[in-house]
Amino acid sequence: MSTAYQRQQKILDCLSERESCSIQELSELLSVSTMTIHRDLDKLADDGAVVKVHGGAILRPTTAPATEYASACPMCQQIVREQLAFVLQFDDESSKQACCPHCGLMMLNMQNPTLILATDFLHGNKVNALQATYLIKADLKTCCSPAVIAFASTEDAERFQQGFGGEMMNFSEAKSFLSSTHAPPRNM
Ligand SMILES: [Zn+2]
Ligand SMILES: [Zn+2]
Repeated sequence: MSTAYQRQQKILDCLSERESCSIQELSELLSVSTMTIHRDLDKLADDGAVVKVHGGAILRPTTAPATEYASACPMCQQIVREQLAFVLQFDDESSKQACCPHCGLMMLNMQNPTLILATDFLHGNKVNALQATYLIKADLKTCCSPAVIAFASTEDAERFQQGFGGEMMNFSEAKSFLSSTHAPPRNM
């Protein structure tokens, strides 16, 4: 048995020896499930120590500190992390970046963007937010609570849900979920 802290140390050791480690390798190395490794990597990614990539992780390059390209979320003023960023683009070519789909979907109550992009939580690529699948209230810590994360593929969302729970929603369901839980009731 190893504590989460010990495992995370070992993951960092592995990553500093080699440039990247797959989740599979780490799970064999540490004799824990891949889901445990996922959680450890999430924690490390939260701390800004590693960057999750498809199927594994790499050390965050020290030459590019998180603050260098970080901007603050217009809704909650938290730092926007690449992995969760939710982008609203407007027809005058300006754009606003929310920290995560949680804030991003709420911003849509006040904004009228021409293009909305969510970040695929597993792969880190930007996807059309209208077509993304959202996992709400999954058991993981993100900038905002409840956690709202986006996936390009429904299968990825389902697989993630098996490990982390939460409710799967499409764009409009997620948007109305957030309006109903966060906006003041209309008739008051
Ligand atoms: Zn925010
Ligand atoms: Zn957020």
